[in-house]
Amino acid sequence: MIIPKNPQLTEEEFEIVKKIVSEFGCSVTPIPGETMTVYAIKGDERHELMFNRLEGLPFVLRVDRIQSMYKLMDIKSELSKNHFKIAGKIPGEDLIVIAGHCTIDPKNPNLFFESAHAIKEAGADVLRGGVWKPRTSPHSYQGDSKAIDILIEARERFNIPVITEVMDEEQLEVALASKVDMIQIGARNALNYSLLKKIGELTHFSRIPILLKRGMHMGPIDEFISAAEYIVSHGNPNVVLCPRGTVPAIDGYRNYPDECITPLLKQKTWAPVIVDPSHSVGRAIYVPHAALAAIAYGADGLIIETHIRAREGIGDDPKQAIHPSTLAQIIEDAKTLFYNVKKYQKAYIPQLENVSK
Ligand code: PEP
Ligand code: MN
Repeated sequence: MIIPKNPQLTEEEFEIVKKIVSEFGCSVTPIPGETMTVYAIKGDERHELMFNRLEGLPFVLRVDRIQSMYKLMDIKSELSKNHFKIAGKIPGEDLIVIAGHCTIDPKNPNLFFESAHAIKEAGADVLRGGVWKPRTSPHSYQGDSKAIDILIEARERFNIPVITEVMDEEQLEVALASKVDMIQIGARNALNYSLLKKIGELTHFSRIPILLKRGMHMGPIDEFISAAEYIVSHGNPNVVLCPRGTVPAIDGYRNYPDECITPLLKQKTWAPVIVDPSHSVGRAIYVPHAALAAIAYGADGLIIETHIRAREGIGDDPKQAIHPSTLAQIIEDAKTLFYNVKKYQKAYIPQLENVSK
């Protein structure tokens, strides 16, 4: 939809617009109103260049998109019928909980095994463990490839699928060679399009689920969904969106909690949403509140940093990891809430706006 600067386009201006849209297989129709005329674009309007050309015209005020910029992630895409499983569960049917250390300490494998055991007992579905870490300071611990063996050993010992974050192609190849069950793309790489494409390509056959965190500086929600479109369009449709807080932070929290975007995501895309309350609020004492808020907003699951003895941990764990006993309590409360909230989700579909019991 083209909104002109003046009440209507001159004949000459209209001809210029017509010529641009026709190059992209579209047509344009004036819709006269009382005070101004707007111009509807007909046809597939998902052409970035067409929009750029129209927006660059001096007599055009604004161009609004009716269609979303992502074809595959769109709720109306055929992929909305693509149901994949995480730890044997279909997202949306059962609550999915991922928990574990922010960072695995390669010098202390037993600490991770103790946590892994307690986390499995607490009822988590997937075990997380950071092998390579994106740290703000280059002087902080950066991770160690050796830790991947600890993660895989924990999976074998406690019979629980595992997830880890990769930051580049080399790490991705190591993680895939170790047969991790799920890959995390962190907030800092959420807009690393080369990496997103590579992940789509290299997981094309295995189709292991990819958890894409929301970038901390990301703007519109469409930017987040479009980042996932890179993975999907390069071969792996099994993506999960993960809000994890944005900046600027609320004073006292690590980030600006953004679990409230879930209903908006659910209206635009079919992708499951697993929220990370740990990085959002950044302090263990606030995590249970943020976790339950995320479920109240309709998340399909949670990813929570959890540690048996957080004070002995490295990375984020000493400040934001919860104890497995707290995790067990959160899972119990989150499950009740999860099934209660489902009835409101019908309201996402306009014709079912009345909430039924
Ligand atoms: C993490 O999960 O430990 C992490 C670094 O997350 P984020 O990318 O959200 O900061
Ligand atoms: Mn962390």
